[in-house]
Amino acid sequence: MATLICVYLFALTLILLGFWVFSIIGRTRRERESRKGICLCRICGFDFRPPVSEVVFRCPQCESLNELERLREI
Ligand SMILES: [Zn+2]
Repeated sequence: MATLICVYLFALTLILLGFWVFSIIGRTRRERESRKGICLCRICGFDFRPPVSEVVFRCPQCESLNELERLREI
């Protein structure tokens, strides 16, 4: 009987661990998609969507020139 309880708890733990890992993977993917195409100004830190066709563009807040680079995770 004790073995059956241990197997049940082990299986339940594995299932919960699987749900947890898949939720983290999904959340990370959604965050990455939401940050796609957003630029962070290197001078003032203002985040905005730059024009797609330009490589170098001006920040709408401080007018400094910026290049498109991916936002890094904190
Ligand atoms: Zn700026």
